[in-house]
Amino acid sequence: MSEERDLPVLSAPAEVAPEVSAVPVEPVPEPPRASMRRRRLAIALAVGLVAGAGYVGVHQVRSEQPPVTSTSPAPTITSTSPDVGAEAAVRRSAAGGSLLQRMASAILAGDQNSFSAALDPRAGDFGAQAQQVYDNFRTLPLASIVMRYVSDDPDALPLARRRALGGSEAWLAQVEVSWRLRDFDEQPVRLMVPVTMVTRDGTSYVASFTDQDTSRRPVWLLGTLRVQRGERSLVVSLDPNADLTVYAHQLDRAIEDVSKVLGRKWRRQVVFYLPRTERQMEYVLGAPAGTYARIAAVTTAEADERVAGVPVRIVGNPPVLNKAGLQGRRIVFTHETTHIAANATVSGVPLWLAEGFADYVAFKTVDVSTDAVAKDLFGLVRAGKGPKALADPASFAATASERRLAVAYAGSWLACRLIATDYGEPKLVRFYREVHSSSSPSALDDAFHDVLGTSQQQFVSDWQRYLKRLAND
Ligand SMILES: [Zn+2]
Repeated sequence: MSEERDLPVLSAPAEVAPEVSAVPVEPVPEPPRASMRRRRLAIALAVGLVAGAGYVGVHQVRSEQPPVTSTSPAPTITSTSPDVGAEAAVRRSAAGGSLLQRMASAILAGDQNSFSAALDPRAGDFGAQAQQVYDNFRTLPLASIVMRYVSDDPDALPLARRRALGGSEAWLAQVEVSWRLRDFDEQPVRLMVPVTMVTRDGTSYVASFTDQDTSRRPVWLLGTLRVQRGERSLVVSLDPNADLTVYAHQLDRAIEDVSKVLGRKWRRQVVFYLPRTERQMEYVLGAPAGTYARIAAVTTAEADERVAGVPVRIVGNPPVLNKAGLQGRRIVFTHETTHIAANATVSGVPLWLAEGFADYVAFKTVDVSTDAVAKDLFGLVRAGKGPKALADPASFAATASERRLAVAYAGSWLACRLIATDYGEPKLVRFYREVHSSSSPSALDDAFHDVLGTSQQQFVSDWQRYLKRLAND
């Protein structure tokens, strides 16, 4: 802990107001908790500033609903004559489809000339951005890339923009770009990207990726990427200055630390996105500006749609991560990697268990003082106002007060630590897995009974006694 003493003290974090989307793969940020003193920097980063996995809509995934097919509308017909409009839509779709196919093939083959031939020669600045996209895909360890023409809407482009583009026709297409990272992704990431197209002298070109403002933007559209492979990790960075080898090493170590608790039967691979700015992080997550102001990192499934098994990423928030120091980052990465190993993005486990478990694993890796982590909680316990139940989901909401959050996290961590202490760590892991893999509404009660041989009620009173003992030590 010595290295932390020289680090700057973070001020009390502001409340964040995350958008909890109905889309199940959206990340649910863990809002910040109590402000901290020097000694508590690493703790607060793990406890307060670590962002969590997506728990929303878990049941859709677990009940094996078929993936939602594209919700994009069919091409809008603008002509007064339906036949003419339909004909034009078919023409655009055919031209756009083959254009996209050529681009994707060129990227995979490393055929710069063929890629450039698909770009509008009159598109000005777009040439440089398109080149950056090409370079980014060549930098990523790409196993596959597909660009699928999904729909279009000629009216989505303002008239002035269409006039500026010129040509016989200019339009905005919604394109599903799917790509898979070699050695890391079992399934491709699929994201919708608006692509402007123009037909001039019978030839169609791609003219922009950014004519339509979207809250979510793929990482390869946000700037120049650098990539660093660790032994089992992959760092994808938009930050030109960061030492990526350090990040890769830390992630490899987090994978090892998590495996010591969860075993080695998970994929044991982590892909980490390191944006250069907080705004870039929000674009990757599809979140409004300011949502993640104090969040160090988020574990999220990278996807637009409800599909189980899509690749999961840890996405860092550079301003917060930079303040964390090596020790703080170690806790952050171990916490987030635990979410990945425990499949938290597609889990229906209660939040107290998901977060308590991740903190349990993360805090094992460093020497932290229980009193410092649980200061607010122990204060309540000593005043006779300790928790009457395990923390409910509302206690983890971003709108909850800092103190309530601090109490919820510390209490959940100590609940998991109590299970590990009284029953052994393997039982804690089994307990988590039982709850995770069960689809029964009584999953939690069943796990208390079947794995721990107790009841939830009995466990809660054991936990309350444990908190009292720790608080009064
Ligand atoms: Zn978490």
